[in-house]
Amino acid sequence: MNDHLMNTYSRLPVAFVRGEGAWLEDAGGRRYLDALSGIAVCSLGHAHPAVREALCRQAGELVHTSNLYRIPQQEALGTRLCAAAGMDRVFFANSGAEANEAAIKLARLYGHNQGIEEPAIVVMEGSFHGRTLATLTATGNRRVQAGFEPLLRGFVRAPYDDLEAIRTIAANNRSVVAVLVEPVQGEGGVRVPDPGHLAGLREICDEQGWLLMLDEIQTGMGRTGRLFAFQHHAELQPDVLTLAKALGNGVPIGACLARGLAAEVLMPGSHGSTFGGNPLACAAGLAVLDTLQAEDLPARAAELGARMQQAFRERLAGVDGVRDIRGLGLMLGIELDRPCGELVGHALEAGLLINVTAERVVRLLPPLILTDEEADLVVDRVGTLIRDFLAEEQEA
Ligand SMILES: *Cc1c(COP(=O)(O)O)cnc(C)c1O
Repeated sequence: MNDHLMNTYSRLPVAFVRGEGAWLEDAGGRRYLDALSGIAVCSLGHAHPAVREALCRQAGELVHTSNLYRIPQQEALGTRLCAAAGMDRVFFANSGAEANEAAIKLARLYGHNQGIEEPAIVVMEGSFHGRTLATLTATGNRRVQAGFEPLLRGFVRAPYDDLEAIRTIAANNRSVVAVLVEPVQGEGGVRVPDPGHLAGLREICDEQGWLLMLDEIQTGMGRTGRLFAFQHHAELQPDVLTLAKALGNGVPIGACLARGLAAEVLMPGSHGSTFGGNPLACAAGLAVLDTLQAEDLPARAAELGARMQQAFRERLAGVDGVRDIRGLGLMLGIELDRPCGELVGHALEAGLLINVTAERVVRLLPPLILTDEEADLVVDRVGTLIRDFLAEEQEA
């Protein structure tokens, strides 16, 4: 390991030198099937021709100017994203945390504009919103926050998927201006809420005049089977929507979209970013959106996700220690009855990239371009790893 990198990650002992589609290759020529996509980033797989061409073309013309000038690629991507999401305006940032920072600042300004002195945002237990001070405060995981106190004021915590708790907050707290929530919790363990949950939140937000702010940084860009996870629900619209991860297929870009009154809150001087929405990042975003739409990859994610969930149910039927198999589209979680972080290393040895989150949930976020055969291979390998792991633990 390298002594000159801050010790922020306990890295696996492998480095990849090239990739193609769902496969990565290390310097020794060994190939790995990627069922994680750089944590829901490379949804089009590695070295996708459309993204490569867009990046090469744009890099040869112009990489960066400044938001002091018009940026046609940013205007084009903003227009396309708003049309696809039913939103009005977008602010471009460089990461998920920054997209959420924009949403948090927008909500606070929205509150102040109504004379609310200490505007508060409702956030959920088990959530993940990023590592900046505001977004780690919003995050519902003590491990992310510990040591970074004092945390920010202006956040109220509620259990996930619990409309009653939100109604109680509404009845008791006059300073709430917004709810920030993931349609499916990713880092929190692939937790899929009750089907009526988002609609229930929308109703409460409408009654209270709160903004419904959806963090679709992980669920967005087709992963769950719709371009955006909220689109599983007929006629439901958020007021604010944050995106990042798969938006650039690996090129850093984040976006905060807003609709109606919320879209008119941020003004010249109230927010900004040097790199945000530069020509190169937006060229990547446009190539990603084009490809997702032209190939109807969200529908493919829905089909593959259902196929894989069903296959896992068969493969792991009756296996002691498997608590739950769940997910939405290609966001899949297999919850075990015990911590299972070591499965990540076992998988690597077997030539497969997976993740474990919330200690005991095996999380799969494969690229949307996976073939049926590759999907079956993932299920087969992961199924074997889980069976072997649980059997060994039993003996020990
Ligand atoms: C990954 C993630 C973030 C943070 O994104 P970064 O680009 O790492 O800052 C925020 N919210 C959710 C739901 C995420 O999955």
